[in-house]
Amino acid sequence: MRVIVCVKQSCKELNPFDACAVEAALRIEGAEVIAVSMGRPDVEDMLRYLTRLGVSRGILLSDRAFAGADTLATSYALSLAVQKLRPDLVLCGRQSIDGDTAQVGPGLAALLRMPVIPYVLEMSVTEKEAVCRTRLGDRTAPLPAVLTVERINELRFPKLRSKVGVTEVWDAETLGADVRRCGLAGSPTKVVQSFENQSGRRHCRMISKEELRTTVETAMKTPRVTLSSAEHTGKRLSAVWAVGEKAAEKAREIADTVTVIRETDPTALLERATREKPSVILFDSSLESRVLAPQVAVQLQTGLCADCTKLETDGEQLFMYRPAFGGNIVAKIRCTTRPTMATVRTLEGRCAELILAGGRGVIGQEEAMQKAARAIGAQCAASRALVDAGKAPYEWQIGLTGRTVSPQVYLAVGISGAVQHVCGMESAHTVIAVNPDKTAPIFDYADFGVCATAEEVFSLLCEEK
Ligand SMILES: Cc1cc2nc3c(=O)[nH]c(=O)nc-3n(C[C@H](O)[C@H](O)[C@H](O)COP(=O)(O)OP(=O)(O)OC[C@H]3O[C@@H](n4cnc5c(N)ncnc54)[C@H](O)[C@@H]3O)c2cc1C
Repeated sequence: MRVIVCVKQSCKELNPFDACAVEAALRIEGAEVIAVSMGRPDVEDMLRYLTRLGVSRGILLSDRAFAGADTLATSYALSLAVQKLRPDLVLCGRQSIDGDTAQVGPGLAALLRMPVIPYVLEMSVTEKEAVCRTRLGDRTAPLPAVLTVERINELRFPKLRSKVGVTEVWDAETLGADVRRCGLAGSPTKVVQSFENQSGRRHCRMISKEELRTTVETAMKTPRVTLSSAEHTGKRLSAVWAVGEKAAEKAREIADTVTVIRETDPTALLERATREKPSVILFDSSLESRVLAPQVAVQLQTGLCADCTKLETDGEQLFMYRPAFGGNIVAKIRCTTRPTMATVRTLEGRCAELILAGGRGVIGQEEAMQKAARAIGAQCAASRALVDAGKAPYEWQIGLTGRTVSPQVYLAVGISGAVQHVCGMESAHTVIAVNPDKTAPIFDYADFGVCATAEEVFSLLCEEK
């Protein structure tokens, strides 16, 4: 069986989700595993390393023409390489940790006309089919198929005497690629402007750790002011498609006519969009939509902006806002092709009234955190750092690629306040932050701040009153 694993180098390392995909491939008995990556020439070193683990061949797609690719252009180049290699199975990591869009796997599957099984937690592969347990339930697909893998295992280390295997570099010509569909030229999503995030900023009053419990209790009783949604005095689009009711709510903020689409099958949606030619299609950011949207976008050869936190229009085109990678920066993005497609963050309909969220700063204190949460009647949540460290389930994650919540009180402990986290909790009525670093950005987004460690506040919260 020939298995291709698509891998990306993110932040100078093998993307952790892709590392799990490589390990999953190496565990398939008798499989010939080929790793394919797109990137700069130095990425070949990473592929060489993978050959020491048992990957039989590493193929680097590298060409100036590939530079600046968004997910559409990336899926296109990868699809050409996969077609040449004729695999029985393609594995991708669920997402890369820099982009976090989770679009490439489903997009690649659609271009290859293969079924996709996303969010794989466990897999068993025979000659004919893949049977998987996923975040969306049990799924089976006939081979060849594309699977996107969660962080389900640890990548092995090379054996001491392991030898470096074969790696090759393929350029656009080798792939037979249409360079107009590659790199920057083939990427319809363009950053118009970047600026510092101002959304969610509050005036923070510092309190002592001893005052924390009463502050939480008082904040829980404070009547909640429902802000009437701001007057939309700006320009509006005339017509927008929204897939599902949640996306429709967002669409109504910027468009006069919203067509609510019920089709959730990619082929049906693709056919209807091809026939009726909408100028904008919006999706919510649910796990299901994050699989559906890229499959439709690549086939319409249009741009898809993931996890938008805000939409805006000049009356003609749609501008999408999304936190940029690194720093407290938000990017304003437009799409040069039609339809413009985006997945938008939507508020959770119902969430707990009191949330205790832990970040990297609570590592080693997870049990104390749960005990403290029980003591004050809070639901636990987490930053991505805590989830990535394997200390909290993904379902706990708040933020850009997690849940968006609006509790009465959000108590953030050991969380630094990255824009990708803040955008998931900025609608909380009262935000209380605990951090030993008084310069931590989270205090800029909190109503009350406690300069203390997680250990200190958890033991105080657990004390009998
Ligand atoms: C595309 C993309 C999407 C992302 N999506 C999300 C998302 O959905 N959700 C999310 O949360 N992040 C997300 N991130 C990651 C985000 O950028 C940050 O890296 C992450 O939020 C940091 O988590 P943290 O605040 O827990 O960790 P850190 O930034 O490492 O902060 C840890 C904090 O703990 C404090 N601390 C240290 N010791 C203690 C102690 N003893 N007690 C208490 N505090 C202590 C430190 O002072 C520090 O402020 C995303 C990133 C990208 C690029």
